[in-house]
Amino acid sequence: METHAPQYYPAFRCLEGRCPHTCCAAGWEIPVDPATAALYETLPGPLGDRVRAFWEIDPGGEPCFPLRGGGCPFLNGEGLCHIHIKLGEEATPLICRTHPRFCYEYGPLRERGLCASCPEAVRLILGEDLVLTVSREEGSPEDAPPLLSPLLSARKTALALLTTEGVSLGQKLQAVLLFANEVQVLLDEDQPESIPSLCRFYEEEFPLLEQAALFLRPPVLEKYLELLGELAILHPHWRKLLAAGKGRQGKAAPPPPRMGERCAAYFLYRHWLRGVWDGDVLTWAEFTVLGTAISSLLAPLHPEGFAEVFRLFCEELEHSEENLAALQDFFWEKGVLPEFFSLAAI
Ligand code: SF4
Repeated sequence: METHAPQYYPAFRCLEGRCPHTCCAAGWEIPVDPATAALYETLPGPLGDRVRAFWEIDPGGEPCFPLRGGGCPFLNGEGLCHIHIKLGEEATPLICRTHPRFCYEYGPLRERGLCASCPEAVRLILGEDLVLTVSREEGSPEDAPPLLSPLLSARKTALALLTTEGVSLGQKLQAVLLFANEVQVLLDEDQPESIPSLCRFYEEEFPLLEQAALFLRPPVLEKYLELLGELAILHPHWRKLLAAGKGRQGKAAPPPPRMGERCAAYFLYRHWLRGVWDGDVLTWAEFTVLGTAISSLLAPLHPEGFAEVFRLFCEELEHSEENLAALQDFFWEKGVLPEFFSLAAI
């Protein structure tokens, strides 16, 4: 199968005991996949007894290690995994061996990446512009979904808008929104065959928005901080950060050079092709702007700055299909695009 991955993807190495925000204590239960569960069922000795004593069946009927004190019960005081130490990485659940890597398939195309809830992944994501590598992997490719080709072309154009020289981050994000809106109109009118010519137009001409027509930004930011506070929240410090952001009157510090663009490129790469299945790309352009704008707004309030707020945003939102679906519904129902042009003006 044709496989895409960011150029930095193979460079990822888990920080293990040096990790400042270990995923083993991120507030997620640890699902135990069937093959690992079968191994644990017959594991001899005290470790086998301990594994079987800890696991539970989750509401979906799957085995998992429930949280103990906010983390995995096998995480030791040095931030290391007791199962990994005793039996090696191959005896840990599949999620522990693969996180923070993600892998999505769209018919004959596989896309890999690193999830920005992991601090080491964030370092790589923000450390260089997104360049995709193309390779071939084993697999049983299915037929290409009809929207795959036009939406791949459109994503390439949207990513290129983020690398345009001589315009601000805000203007780039607004251009992505303008473009995504036009792609969405063609999708809604069942004219995906017109997307390549739209891409060519945007590749020749960078669109600039009339700034005077924008909504006032502080109330718009406040509204979206409020919305994020109403979603399912993993960590109380995220809730506190959202609350603190409301007092900033929309004063965002522009992110360090190129970081805002790389953050936005991460969101577009990871989510845009969801539109292959449901014909919605505008939501994911809006989500891109939301993540970049909120990370910029809250960065001055966090001692670790933009990179850590971006990580927290991803940890709270991208690991929860419930939160993503709630945002998608809100964006669809409320027609939020005009507000997002203001939100993008970083
Ligand atoms: S968050 Fe990333 S670096 Fe930290 S323990 Fe998990 S995978 Fe390793």
